[in-house]
Amino acid sequence: MENSRANTQRRRSWTPSSMSRTLWSSNESPTKDFFRSNDEQKGVNVQVVARCRPLSEEESRGKASSMISCDEIKQQVIATQNTGNKQTDKVFVFDKVFGLNSKQVEVYDDIIAPAIAEVLEGYSWTIFAYGQTGTGKTYTMEGEGRKYKNGEFHENAGMIPRAVQQIFDVLERERADYSMKATFLELYNEEITDLLAPDEGKRPLVLMEDGKGAVFVRGLEEEVVCSVDEICAILEKGSSRKRTAETLVNKQSNRSHSIFTITVQIKEPDTSTTDHGSEMIRCGRLNLVDLAGSENVLRSGAREGRAREAGEINKSLLTLGRVINALADNSTHVPYRDSKLTRLLRDSLGGKTKTCIIATISPSVLCQEETLSTLDYAFRAKCIKNRPEVNQKLMKSTVIKDLYTQIDSLKQELRVSRQVNGGYGDQGDRHSSDALRKQLMELQELYLYQQQLTVDLKDKLLSTEGELTTARQSLLNLKNQCQQAEDVCRDKEAVIFNLISSGKELTKKTSELQSDLEGAVLDASTLFAKIEHKTDLEETNRQNVEKFYSHLVQQLQELDEGVSASATNQEQNWKAIQDDTRLFLTSKAKAIDELFKQIENLKELNASGVNKIDGSAEELYQNSQVALSRLSSALSDHSSCIMDLVSKNASAAAAINNGLKSNMNNLGLKLDEFVRQQEENHARSHHTSKSISSSLASFFKTLKIYTSKLTLIEEDSQTIAKQKLHAFTTKFEEYSAAEEKLLLEQMSELLANSSSRKKKMIQAAVDDVLESASSNGLKLNQEISEMQSLTVDTEEKWNVFIQTTESNYVEDSVAVEAGKCALEDGLQCCVRELAEVSKQQRLSEESLLDEIKANFVSQDSLIKNETAANEKFHGRYSSIAASFLEETGDATRNLTLCAEKVLRLDREASEKAELLSARCIVSTKQTSDSHSGQVAEISISARKWLVDDYLVDSSPSPSPRKYGFAK
Ligand code: ADP
Ligand code: MG
Repeated sequence: MENSRANTQRRRSWTPSSMSRTLWSSNESPTKDFFRSNDEQKGVNVQVVARCRPLSEEESRGKASSMISCDEIKQQVIATQNTGNKQTDKVFVFDKVFGLNSKQVEVYDDIIAPAIAEVLEGYSWTIFAYGQTGTGKTYTMEGEGRKYKNGEFHENAGMIPRAVQQIFDVLERERADYSMKATFLELYNEEITDLLAPDEGKRPLVLMEDGKGAVFVRGLEEEVVCSVDEICAILEKGSSRKRTAETLVNKQSNRSHSIFTITVQIKEPDTSTTDHGSEMIRCGRLNLVDLAGSENVLRSGAREGRAREAGEINKSLLTLGRVINALADNSTHVPYRDSKLTRLLRDSLGGKTKTCIIATISPSVLCQEETLSTLDYAFRAKCIKNRPEVNQKLMKSTVIKDLYTQIDSLKQELRVSRQVNGGYGDQGDRHSSDALRKQLMELQELYLYQQQLTVDLKDKLLSTEGELTTARQSLLNLKNQCQQAEDVCRDKEAVIFNLISSGKELTKKTSELQSDLEGAVLDASTLFAKIEHKTDLEETNRQNVEKFYSHLVQQLQELDEGVSASATNQEQNWKAIQDDTRLFLTSKAKAIDELFKQIENLKELNASGVNKIDGSAEELYQNSQVALSRLSSALSDHSSCIMDLVSKNASAAAAINNGLKSNMNNLGLKLDEFVRQQEENHARSHHTSKSISSSLASFFKTLKIYTSKLTLIEEDSQTIAKQKLHAFTTKFEEYSAAEEKLLLEQMSELLANSSSRKKKMIQAAVDDVLESASSNGLKLNQEISEMQSLTVDTEEKWNVFIQTTESNYVEDSVAVEAGKCALEDGLQCCVRELAEVSKQQRLSEESLLDEIKANFVSQDSLIKNETAANEKFHGRYSSIAASFLEETGDATRNLTLCAEKVLRLDREASEKAELLSARCIVSTKQTSDSHSGQVAEISISARKWLVDDYLVDSSPSPSPRKYGFAK
């Protein structure tokens, strides 16, 4: 045990942990958990909890409705079924219910944490996850995602890592000396595989019994675990194995069971050492079982025959169901031996291990059948009773002994294998011996397996025989009992028949009565409701009438007051009208007198006005006559004046015209002169240019001549120089030859040398002179040719200039000629227009004069007409004025008469109005008085009808009693 945490080494376990085989009888009774029964001897029921997962995304998307509701307080799962139009609810009560939104940590805290506490006390616990595929068995047990990181769990982490964490936490806190081992196996198609074994050693494992009834898996790897990370790694490894298998075998994991087992061995504190002084070791075990999908039960059950042939039957799951049924029914025979799963977990089903089943379900209505079957199954399992016991503590010495035994058996094995292989000495045979050893081991395993099978079969045979004899016996007993029961039955049948027929009669009558009664109850309740309603209405009516009456009285009073006030008002108004009428009549009489006076004044004023107008009309007539005669004379003066002016104007215009004409003629002459001068100037400049050109041409000619002469001279001088030099050369040569001849003998050698030197010198000098002369000549020639080319260029340019000047002159002359023509045309045009203008002026003068004359004549006649009309108007006006005066007098008289008549009528009307208003005052008073009387009468009769005579049902007799059914 020492340093066990550091020991990560794996070892093979040939025996299961001995704790599961040996019992420990202790009085120590755990008390903490909520599952624990106080009386363990009577047995503890298997705890069953239900967990419902949320609707998956796919289900939500497919709008699958939910058929499950979880009541976590009442611990109920309610499954709603719709069959046709009927909806039925099935209620399942469990020890604990986890609803759709339950968290892993909640499940853990409620279920696993108390179990772990007991495991640490030395109990064995098994947690089953049972349910349809996809309902969260693996999610609950193992969890999802990265389960553990930085010392914290992911919220999806399952029960296994959390359990391990808790074990570590508690033991570390208690500073206990402990070791923890884990195994992980898979059971598929009745074959056990180790999910933690190395790949190369992966083969089906054999289930064995140790002769004392305990079952163990031979060759299962036990991994020593020292941290949560390690357990997570182990889980990951096991799960990945399952996944690989899943891809190889069609959805194997749905049909396989996996069992994860944690075993803890804890050294007891020193106080609990035995009398022999040996240390004690406490063992706890936790099995976490992820069962195959529950749908496999249905499937296997439905087509067992065919499924068995196809090897599809899930024997373990079926057997588990049968075992549960047998245990729930308290059968004498429980078929544990029928499957490996039930053999492995025998102790958890009706044994000494504590058990909890987590039934996982889906809420979706699509899984209805499976869900109901799971819930039924789980509900049945609740009846199973276990008799939990703390595992027997082991003495350290026993453990060590066990270990020694193991070592011995290993040694034995090694020895056997060595013997088989002939030792490791011969390296050449190493491979064949390995193969042989392997074969031998397999054979050994096979043999052991066969033995095991034989033992199993024998057991089965024995148990079946026993069952058969007991069954025979019970059959006989049953037959007897059956006979007796049949007799009793016959008697009872007759009685029952009678009872049934009378019962039927009674039931019929009862149902009739019941229906009558129900009708009556209904009527009575309606009646009560009506009465209550009526009473309420009457009360409301009464209150309304009272309110109405008081309101009416108040309003009548107000009306009465209003009417009397208006009557007095009217009376006053009438009186005021009478006064006003009188006042109006006197003031009107005064006004009419005034009117008469005014009319008289107006008459006089009118007459004087007419006279005055008459006088001024006379004056106007005289004045207009004078003005007209003056106008006529002024008009004649004016017209003569205009005529003079027009004639003066005409003569002035003629003079201007003449002047203009002469001016224009002068202009034409001057223009001609200018054009002529221009032509002359042009001709002159042209001539000068021509003379310059000809002199220049002659200059260039002479220049050419001189140049050619110069060239000739130069050539001559060159030939002369050449000739002279040549003559000099020949002379000198002759002279030298003669002198040579003379001095030849004396100076033979020297002379020859000197003459050659001199020759050379002279030749050089001559050559030099010749060269310079020719170069001079060349230079001169060059200069002359340059001068010649320059002269030719200049001449060409001059010629071009002369040509352009000539063409310009021609163009200018043409332009001047054209301008002159245009000017002459314009001048002519002006002269013509001038003649036209003077003609027009004359015509207009004549027409103006005619017009003025005609005007004068018409104005004169107009004035005459006007004068005649004036006279006529004057006459008419005088007669109108006289008749107007007469008519005004008549109208004034009529007006006076009319006014008098109106005054008289007014007086009569006033008298009538006064009489009427007096009568009105009297009648208003009468109306007001009678109104007061009527109001008083209305009040009295309203009181009589609404207060005194208005009846409400207020009889003192109580309302009919309401019976219990009145609702
Ligand atoms: P099973 O092992 O029963 O076949 P799984 O454990 O593989 O089912 O779960 C199926 C799916 O449902 C997984 O994707 C898982 O995440 C999801 N699931 C199951 N139970 C729950 C739960 N209680 N809350 C959230 N998701 C869940
Ligand atoms: Mg699963």
